[in-house]
Order: sequence, then structure tokens, then C-alpha cells
Amino acid sequence: MARVEYENVSKRFPTQDRAAIDDFTLDVADGELLVLLGPSGCGKTTALRMLAGLEHPDSGDIRIDGKSVVGLEPKDRDVALVFQSYALYPHMSAKDNIRYPLRVKHMNEAERERRVGQVAEMLSLTALLERRPARLSGGEQQRVALARAIVRQPRVFLMDEPLSNLDAKLRTHTRTELKALQRQLGTTTVFVTHDQAEAMTLADRIAVMDRGRLLQLGTPDDLYLRPVNLFVAQFIGSPPMNILAAEVRDGALLAEGTWRLPLPRGIAAKSVSVGIRPEGIELDESSTDAQVGEVLVSEPLGSETIVDVKVGGALVKVRAAPQVRPDPGTRVHLRVDPSAIRLFDTASGSAIA
Ligand code: ADP
Ligand code: MG
Repeated sequence: MARVEYENVSKRFPTQDRAAIDDFTLDVADGELLVLLGPSGCGKTTALRMLAGLEHPDSGDIRIDGKSVVGLEPKDRDVALVFQSYALYPHMSAKDNIRYPLRVKHMNEAERERRVGQVAEMLSLTALLERRPARLSGGEQQRVALARAIVRQPRVFLMDEPLSNLDAKLRTHTRTELKALQRQLGTTTVFVTHDQAEAMTLADRIAVMDRGRLLQLGTPDDLYLRPVNLFVAQFIGSPPMNILAAEVRDGALLAEGTWRLPLPRGIAAKSVSVGIRPEGIELDESSTDAQVGEVLVSEPLGSETIVDVKVGGALVKVRAAPQVRPDPGTRVHLRVDPSAIRLFDTASGSAIA
């Protein structure tokens, strides 16, 4: 069992004029893979380092398994940290690197060998165990660093952008493996990234942060379909959600002055922002009653085409089938799926429907 809780945690570095972590409350379930996601500087690393015991909160509490760890030395917390830089010992073989954390524990030689062998097997490192880091690729070094964390069988894994140094292909591959491995081990994991695609593929739940605050906690689907505010709406998804200025007039929604959209029930606000995901809009050549727009550019991506369409003063991104490639200047009709419409209060940014 390892549940992790942050309760009203705040932390400000002396040189900063605002808090790095601001009244942060989060509950990570036992066995969960929770991703902390947010732009650079939002406080992800600080939140993780406080859990590891490398930084200390100014106020609030951090608990593992219901017991406060504030004030405990890092070594007494039984957590394992994996960073972006693998920080392997260059003069030691992969095997000695993996075995290293077990030296300080009282464990007999046979048990140590058994654990190293098992973890090496799990991460496909068995054939590489005698090599030193300099003779391993980036991806292999990264797996050694993971193995070194896993072999300790800690209560919690803490991972700070551990895949950032890998090239795109290896990165996607490693994150799939990492997810499978985490499932298999069932070890509570807090994983930090600024990459929304990485967060979406890995996480059981994602905690979106900005300026030291928790904005939204939810499953990848929750965040994608029901973002609580404009920041989350535009941070999640690629391309991000289209946001249009709109007015409620005569029971209808009028975006960008001309675009009539169905109004969700119970909306009284006059000035709102409409959010529509790129797949919530369809290019409809035959229709005559749909909104007219002008194609700026088609971006073919192989599995799909993203078509940029100018509507009034706005640029709208539409997700279309791969063979759809309208030329710049083409007039197109846009049709919106009513269930894809989200509304936000323009002033506060909060979701209202
Ligand atoms: P992230 O990991 O999300 O990029 P960090 O947790 O590293 O963000 O940083 C959060 C904020 O705290 C940033 O404004 C950063 O400049 C500041 N910060 C982090 N570490 C220190 C430090 N040791 N001293 C002063 N400011 C720091
Ligand atoms: Mg960081």
C-alpha cells in the first residue's frame, strides 16, 4: 500500500516573488500512475522533490501511507527517483549500477543476484549487464536508470521527465513499455512531464498545473472532453481546442459575429468563449446552410489532415480524413457537432457548459 497525499502544500524560494507551489492538494491512489502535467516553470519538479525529501514545504503536509513524511530524510522515505539525466556511475557496469542501491540494504548475495536478474529480464537488459554506460545507447542507459529504481522495490516511483532525452521513436516505445511495467509492478508512480501527449498515453489520472496551482485532476478523457477552464482546454490536445469569441443573442450562439451555433441549455451569459475540438467540426462541401470559411492551408499528417480555415477574424483547425486536401483559397462549409461545443466564461476562463 502506498497512497500519496499533498495537503495545502505551499513553497516559495527566497529569490522568487511568487510561490513555486501554491496551496497544492492532491491525493494519489495506491498503485496509480499519476502524471503531473504543466508548462515549464509551473512547479512540477518542486512538487516531486518535496515528496522525495529534497525540498521542504513552507506549509502544508505530505503523507505516504497516511503518515507525514515532512522532516524525514530522503533515504527514510522509501521512494525512488528517476531523472531526465540518467546519472549512472560511469566507471561501473550496467549490472553494478543496478545493484548499487541494494548494497546499503541488508540483503544476502543470492537475493541481490536474483533481484538484479529479474529486473534486467523485465527491461531486456540481460545481454547488456557487463557494459559500462559509455557503451550503451541513450535508451539503454535510460532503462538501466529505471532498473536501478525498480530493483529497490520502493513504495513510490518518482519520475521527472525521464524520457525527455530520448529521440521521438524511442520515446513513444519506452513510454508504452513503462506503462506496461508500472501495471505489472503495481507501484504507485508520480510522473512529471510538460508533454501533453506523453501524459495522455501514460496516465491513469493527470494533474494539470499552472503557476504552482493544481487546475484540474482527472482521467485523460475527463481533461480532453470536460476541461475546467480555457488553460486546460488549450493545453490538452494537438492541435488544441479551437476557441472563438461569441455572443448569446436571441437564444442562439453567434461566434465571430457570423457563425450560428446551437446554444447549450441554460446559458444566460452574454459574452462567452466557445471551444470546439478540431474533430468536432466537419468540412461539408454539399451543404449550403453551414458556415462558410476560406482555407488557409492543409497540413497532411499521413493518418489525417489538419485544415486551417479562416472564419471571420478567427483561424479554425479542422481534423479531416487523410485524402482531404483543399487548396488555399478554397471556400468550404463548416458543420459543427452540437455535442462538441464547450462554453467558457471569457473573463474568468472557467467552463460553464
Ligand atoms: P517545472 O519543473 O514545472 O519546470 P520547477 O518546479 O522547476 O518547475 O520550478 C517552479 C518555479 O520555482 C520556477 O519559477 C523556478 O524558477 C523556481 N525554482 C525552482 N527551483 C528553484 C530554486 N532552487 N531556487 C529558486 N527558484 C527555484
Ligand atoms: Mg522540471
